[in-house]
Amino acid sequence: MLLEVANLCVSYGAVTAVSGVSLGVREGSIATVLGANGAGKSSLLRAIMGLTPATGEVRFAGEAISRWPAARRVAAGIAMVPEGRRILVSLTVEENLLMGAYPRHDRQIAADLDNIYDLFPNLARRRHAPGSVLSGGEQQMLAIGRAMMARPKLLLMDEPSLGLSPLFVREVFQLIRRMNADGLSILLVEQNTRLALQTAADGYVLRLGACVAAADTATLARSDDLMHAYLGGA
Ligand code: ATP
Repeated sequence: MLLEVANLCVSYGAVTAVSGVSLGVREGSIATVLGANGAGKSSLLRAIMGLTPATGEVRFAGEAISRWPAARRVAAGIAMVPEGRRILVSLTVEENLLMGAYPRHDRQIAADLDNIYDLFPNLARRRHAPGSVLSGGEQQMLAIGRAMMARPKLLLMDEPSLGLSPLFVREVFQLIRRMNADGLSILLVEQNTRLALQTAADGYVLRLGACVAAADTATLARSDDLMHAYLGGA
């Protein structure tokens, strides 16, 4: 396992958002976390990234990282594409991408920037334009490109298809498959259950902060009861 999470709990005052979740991402694979609004998916990802206080254990590449600050987790090889993209619209496309490289001190940054532009021709054409001119789909690509500039081994993605047109949803999922084929391990939070189950190898279903199902995605997809009970029959 590249990522192992054991008995993770996140609370906001009296509200328990994640209660005792355990999951794993195998090296080189895609795992998905499914669940309705408010099930605790974002809180889980933020806790893995070190952006929200949590109890329980997080191990990455064999190391216990639960007490590490977020920046150290980024340096170790974890990056996140947050929900709602969170790009800086007053900065240019290129400045946004370079922000993703801030923990790095190597000489490959310019070459990686070129690779991102190869992957996203729309971003290349607008490299000197402010983020505000991008469409929602292009902003999502920028958020993914920015995370990739940290050269992660594991990418945490929080609802990357949210609010996108069907065309961009397809593009985002194609990109997820391509990045995975290039060796990236991915933990994907999605409301688009059908596509997430088609794309990932392993799946976890959260309900009210607890994990109510964990299985390979083929098994989950066959479980009609589960789909109807927790995922709105999607
Ligand atoms: P969504 O798809 O709507 O983002 P989610 O599955 O990602 O939902 P979370 O955003 O993790 O779920 O929220 C889980 C629970 O924690 C919800 O009841 C939510 O209201 C609560 N919650 C989330 N963030 C906070 C916060 N900062 N303060 C208080 N409660 C919060």
